[in-house]
Parts: sequence; structure tokens; C-alpha cells
Amino acid sequence: MELNRDQVLALAPDASSAKAATGLLADGKWDTLGADARALWGECKGSGAKPYQVQVELGALASRCSCPSRKFPCKHGLALMLMYAQGNPRFASASAPPDWVTQWLVSRQERSAKKEAAAASPSRSNPRRRFMARPSSPRGRRRAAPDRHPVRDEGHRDFRQGWGAGGDVIKSASGPPGPSWGTSA
Ligand SMILES: [Zn+2]
Repeated sequence: MELNRDQVLALAPDASSAKAATGLLADGKWDTLGADARALWGECKGSGAKPYQVQVELGALASRCSCPSRKFPCKHGLALMLMYAQGNPRFASASAPPDWVTQWLVSRQERSAKKEAAAASPSRSNPRRRFMARPSSPRGRRRAAPDRHPVRDEGHRDFRQGWGAGGDVIKSASGPPGPSWGTSA
């Protein structure tokens, strides 16, 4: 895939990232550099003991880096693409991509496949429709039959009504608790 300097600089989130990236273009800054048909990768020396692992997917020009920068792409990603655009011969002589590159590419592929599958099959069936169409069961109808002892129930109802009336009287006679409750003792 062809990549030129202007294309790469257009991806820079701000001018300072682009400027910082141009300071990382020396061969000595990079422990490894590699490329295949799908990706670029490189290990860039930083301030720590471990080099930063930088990778770019060429199709989408998406990049990932192990550095703590929140810029996207970070200066390492930009520098990696710039070095590739400059035609650095180390990319051509690279062997197979390392594990940390292939794993990232696989996870990106899985994610985009899931997104495509979700977009291709919108939920067509309404799960609620099944419940609404269900006929009433014979057991439910039997339970709805009229009570077999209406006379006994009638007596209970009269008794409860008497108590209910008395309760109403008591409720209306007792006023709300005054402010002196508890303080007069
Ligand atoms: Zn970085």
C-alpha cells in the first residue's frame, strides 16, 4: 500500500504531535520495524526500559501504541507511518509480524465482523407477540368458576362492615398528635 507524507500528517491530531513525530524518524530510535500487506509495526525506544510497541493497520490507517499518550494517533504511530512513507528499507526486509501485531489484527477483525452481523440482521420478530397470542389454559378457566359457598361468605362480610364503621369513628375522634407530646413529661 502506498502512503505519502501528506496523508500521514493529515492524520495528526495536532501540530505538536506532528512535530514530535518528525523527531522520531531516526533509524536508531527503532529496535524493530516491519510491514506486510496488512500492517506496519515497530518498537520505538522511549524513556522506559521497554520500547513502545507501535502498530498501524494499513486498510483503515488505524493505529495502536503501548505508550501512555491519549492522542490518536500518538507521535509513535505517526512516526511509524512517516518512516514507511519515506521508503525505509527495514520495512521490506521484515519477517512475519510478531504476536502482538497478529493478535491486534485478529481482534479488530472480530469486532468489525460482529458490527457487520448486527447491522445485517435487525430484530424482526417482536418477542412479546408470542405471549399475547397464547390461548387461556383450561386450568385457568376452572379457577375462574363462581364460589361454591356464597352464604357463609355473606355473614363474614357483615361482621367486617361493623368493625369498619367503628374504626372510622375512632379515627375521626382522635386528632393529630399535638406538639406537646413527649415534652410535657
Ligand atoms: Zn505512542
